[in-house]
Amino acid sequence: MARPGNKIIQAKLVLLGDMGTGKTSLALRFVKGQFYPNQEPTVGAAFFTQILSLSEATVKFDIWDTAGQERYHSLAPMYYRGAAAAIVVYDISSIDTFVQAEKWVQELQRHGNQKLVMALAANKSDLEPKREVETEEGEKFAQENGMFYMETSAKTAENINELFYEIAKRLARAL
Ligand code: GDP
Ligand code: MG
Repeated sequence: MARPGNKIIQAKLVLLGDMGTGKTSLALRFVKGQFYPNQEPTVGAAFFTQILSLSEATVKFDIWDTAGQERYHSLAPMYYRGAAAAIVVYDISSIDTFVQAEKWVQELQRHGNQKLVMALAANKSDLEPKREVETEEGEKFAQENGMFYMETSAKTAENINELFYEIAKRLARAL
């Protein structure tokens, strides 16, 4: 609940990244607190809302998820329009998805606003034995692109709330 006198920030947040990296799972974990292992990749709802209360502000997230269009490596400009924050997702067990993250960041820079809060989510951290992308590589990439880095798992819930809290804090600070 919003406290009296507390700022309310409504923020559009877009999820980007290759198909199968776990965008929908991240959103569902955050919004519903659950993981759906047999969820059809990319199929599903394209819009979620969730509210986070910080001491300094209440952030109401409008989370935009793709409905499979990322397969074509191009999303409609309206997907990016007005976004205040973005999470670029890759899968630590797939180097290809990390390579493609660069392309998603470029897309974002082309279409999004310049002061966007950007997070890099190195997802599926539970798949450590199959890791193909080292933490240092992800951190370096994030730093070079003005993003903050977080290793997440939609499956175990590791760092999911932390990811969205960090975004909320940065949004509140930017105001
Ligand atoms: P999207 O295409 O980016 O939306 O990816 P999905 O959320 O549909 O997930 C693709 C597949 O990866 C599904 O089989 C998910 O169950 C699985 N998945 C998503 N997140 C994780 C995770 O953190 N760990 C593991 N092990 N699997 C995940
Ligand atoms: Mg999806």
